[in-house]
Amino acid sequence: MAFKTLDDIGGDLTGKVVLVRVDLNMPMADGAVTDLTRAEAVAPTILELADKGAKVLLLAHFGRPKGARNSTMSLSMVQGAVEEVLGREVMFIPELAGPVAAQAIDILRPGDVGLLENTRFWPGEEANDIELARSIAVNADLYVNDAFSAAHRAHASTHALAQLLPAYAGRSMEAELKALDAALGNPEKPVAAVVGGAKVSTKLAVLEHLVGRVQHLIIGGGMANTFLAARGVDVGKSLCEHDLAAKAEAIMDAADASGCIVHLPYDVVVAKEFAANPASLRTCNVHEVAADEMILDVGPQATVALGDVLKTCRTLVWNGPLGAFEIPPFDTATVALARTAAALSKEGSLVSVAGGGDTVAALNHAGVAGDFSYVSTAGGAFLEWMEGRELPGVAALTA
Ligand code: ADP
Ligand code: MG
Repeated sequence: MAFKTLDDIGGDLTGKVVLVRVDLNMPMADGAVTDLTRAEAVAPTILELADKGAKVLLLAHFGRPKGARNSTMSLSMVQGAVEEVLGREVMFIPELAGPVAAQAIDILRPGDVGLLENTRFWPGEEANDIELARSIAVNADLYVNDAFSAAHRAHASTHALAQLLPAYAGRSMEAELKALDAALGNPEKPVAAVVGGAKVSTKLAVLEHLVGRVQHLIIGGGMANTFLAARGVDVGKSLCEHDLAAKAEAIMDAADASGCIVHLPYDVVVAKEFAANPASLRTCNVHEVAADEMILDVGPQATVALGDVLKTCRTLVWNGPLGAFEIPPFDTATVALARTAAALSKEGSLVSVAGGGDTVAALNHAGVAGDFSYVSTAGGAFLEWMEGRELPGVAALTA
């Protein structure tokens, strides 16, 4: 994957205007940002450019204002949080382009940071309108994209702009692309994929893509039930998409054809009600689930066997928990396998990349997110990448 990074920017940056596409969609409560992770992720890029004397202009969307100004979704609300993270002042500019923006940019000194208004206030953003992009680009010299999480959208700020200015990946984008490439683009084999979560229907494309790329496909969570049912197992009252039996069969056939081993649990944790530590809790073989029971986690024997599979692998990509991890003890298999993967990663025998909203929460719950080689917080972009799709915002940087 050939893309330019900040290391490829030649010449003196002093006074140059650099547009930096960032993700500042941070959770808010009572007008204050409650989690600074996203600002922290892009701070190295902003500070590096500013310290080289650039005038840094931050470009981001915030919420879904659907092409119109909306005071409840102004990026001015995160200005203070960005200042806190950067440790320096940020000038808020209530426009994207036009004379007010041009004047404000003129006032900025080399090394200053400006924050432009929510790109989605303008309908041209989501329409990937080249004219909107042009009106922004006239005020700038370079474009840097540091928002992998927005790269699955072909919008003016992620795609059109990259066609108009010399375009580079920021440090956070660079790290994400390198990690993803090491996991599925150009991985060391054998590769294992863990795909869990609630439903097969939300991850069909992921499964279809992975069977041709990985040597071990570990299916857990509610989606394992659909595969078990397709194989004739009675899964009782478990979450199961019986109408997807044929799709599940096709995925298992495709795996066979390409030498990918599909791992389904052979023992499971079941209960009659979805509650913490219910009286009806028990562990059984998959063929012994009663009609009134639900499979809520992978069983202890299968969990150990899956850990042994990981020990034979060099690369792991993980999306989706193995069980209903929010409620104990149905977090057991997820926590155990995550700890095994983390230990192997720490030893240096496994490159482990994980992503997905609930997956990140599960890894944090297991206390091992920091020991994985890379944890993506990108959500939709991460899943589209797992589906093998080309992300427009990435393609625009690699063209
Ligand atoms: P991610 O956000 O990481 O992509 P998903 O949203 O696909 O993951 O799946 C997470 C959800 O799957 C969790 O809410 C979890 O409770 C649920 N889940 C996992 N295993 C089961 C199961 N056996 N039965 C019901 N729900 C499950
Ligand atoms: Mg989820």
